[in-house]
Amino acid sequence: MSLLAETQSIVKQFEFTDDDVNKSVREFLRQMDEGLEKDGTSLSQIPTYVTGVPTGQEKGLYMAVDLGGTNFRVCSVKLNGDTTFNITSDKVAVPKELMVAEKAEDLFAFLALQIKKFLEKHHGDHFEAHIRRRMTVSSPDGYRDEHAFRMGFTFSFPVQQVGINKGTLIRWTKGFDIPDAVGKDVCALLQTEIDKLHLPVKVAALVNDTVGTLMAHSYGAPGSHGAVLGAIFGTGTNGAYLEKLSNLKKPLVGEYDSSTGNMVINIEWGSFDNQLNVLPNTPWDVALDKETPNPGIQMYEKRVSGMFLGELLRLVINDLMKNPKVSLFRDENSSTNDRRSTTDIAETSGIWRPWGIDTSILSHAAGDHTPKLSVLRDTLQETLQISAPAYEDAQAFKAIAEAIGRRAARLAAVAIGAVVLKSGRLSDPCHANDPVDVGVDGSLVENYPYFEDMIYEALRVIDGIGEEGAKRIRIGLAQDGSGVGAALIALVAAGME
Ligand code: ADP
Repeated sequence: MSLLAETQSIVKQFEFTDDDVNKSVREFLRQMDEGLEKDGTSLSQIPTYVTGVPTGQEKGLYMAVDLGGTNFRVCSVKLNGDTTFNITSDKVAVPKELMVAEKAEDLFAFLALQIKKFLEKHHGDHFEAHIRRRMTVSSPDGYRDEHAFRMGFTFSFPVQQVGINKGTLIRWTKGFDIPDAVGKDVCALLQTEIDKLHLPVKVAALVNDTVGTLMAHSYGAPGSHGAVLGAIFGTGTNGAYLEKLSNLKKPLVGEYDSSTGNMVINIEWGSFDNQLNVLPNTPWDVALDKETPNPGIQMYEKRVSGMFLGELLRLVINDLMKNPKVSLFRDENSSTNDRRSTTDIAETSGIWRPWGIDTSILSHAAGDHTPKLSVLRDTLQETLQISAPAYEDAQAFKAIAEAIGRRAARLAAVAIGAVVLKSGRLSDPCHANDPVDVGVDGSLVENYPYFEDMIYEALRVIDGIGEEGAKRIRIGLAQDGSGVGAALIALVAAGME
C-alpha cells in the first residue's frame, strides 16, 4: 500500500460523521440530565453556588487570584459598568519546594505574602488608609470591614464545593503534594494567612476557571443577555452553564441565594461518555488511554484537549513509521526528486518519547498552505529533529494531524451544541433573533486554525440547531476569565453577604 493510500485509510478512521455528531448530542443531553439527578455519573454537573450571570453593568474594584499550577497570579479588576474593565496583574512562579511542603500553611502563607506585595505595589493608598482605620478600631476583626477588597480565588484543583467561598480539597494534581491540605477548606486556609498579615482582603468566592469564563463573557459580550456557556479548550476541556434550580434534583449542601431561580453548573465534561457509548475509539485512542495514569476516565478530554492531541498524533505517526511498506520519514523508495534522500531522525527527537509532541504542531500543520509545505517541513526539522523531511511525508503528517484536529473540533461542537439546546435560548420567544453567546478560552481554540469554523460546520448539522440556529450562536474569546471572571464572582458573592 502506498503512503497516500495508508494515510487515507487512517484519516478515514478519524472521521466523525454528521450522524455521529447528532447521536452524541443526544447522549450528552441524557448524561447532563443524569448528572443533575444524582452523584457518581459520567458528567458530574457540580453546583457552584453562583446563582446568576452578570449583565455588563456591574461596577467596583475587586481582586482575583489564580493558583493554576506553575504560577500564582494576583490581580485587581476595576469594573466600569459599561462592559469594560481595567485589570492590573502580577504573576509569580510557585517555588517547587512549596508544591510539596509539609504543611498547608507554608504554601498559603506564600500566597498571602504575594497578595500583600501586590497591594503595596499597586494599591498603596487603599492599603495605607486601611492600616490607619485598623489602628482606630478596637475589635480584633475590625480590619475585615466594608472597605476590604472582595477577592475571587480561582483554584484549579479538584474541590468539593460546599458554598460560594467554601470548598474542601479532594486531592492535589499537577505536581502538588501537600497531604496536610487535603480535606481542608482552601478558602479558609488562604483567609487565615491573609488575616495573619492583617490585609484588607476577604476571600469572597471560590472560582472554577470555566465559571470564570462564563462570567467574564456575560459581562463583556455587548448586547448579550448573558452567555449561555463558558468553555475551556486548553490543556484540558470543560464547560459551565446556567441551569434552572428546579432542574437540579440532587441535594445541595451549602447556602445560596435562591431568588434568581438559577445556578451555574460546572459540567466537568472531560469525563463525558467514559463508557464509550458514542465516543469514537480508534486503536490509537486505545493506546493513548493505556499510557495515562487514569485509564477509562476523562475519555472525552482525551479526544479533544491540548494535553492529548499531540500524543495521539505521535502514536499514529510511530505506527506509520513502523509500516515497512510506506517508509515514512525514511529515504528508501523515493518517488520524486523532491523526496530528499537524507531523512534521518535524531535519537533525542520527541517522536520517540511518550508525550514528546506538543499539540501546537497540529496548528503548524493545519496552518501551512505553502505549495511544498516548506513551513511544516521546517517545523518538523526544528522541533522533532527530522532532518530534511520529504514533501510526501509532510503531506501525510499534515493529513493525519488535520484529521485529529477536525475530529476534536466536531467533538467540541457536540458539547457546545448540547448546552445551547439545553439552554432553550434558540426557541425562547423572548430572545427571538438575539445572539446566543458562548465564551471560550484556551490555547487550542485560540490558535488552531479553523477550529471555530469546524465547530460551526458541525453545529449546522445538529437537529434543533440547523443553519439558522448556528447563525445565531456567537462563539467569542472570553477575555481574561480567571481575572475578570473571578472578580465578578466575588461581586456576586459580596451581594450575598
Ligand atoms: P491551560 O489550559 O493550562 O490554562 P492553555 O490554554 O495555554 O493553558 O493550553 C495549553 C495547552 O494548549 C497545552 O496542552 C498545549 O499543548 C496546547 N497548545 C499550546 N499552543 C498551542 C497551539 N498553537 N495550537 C494548539 N494547541 C496549543
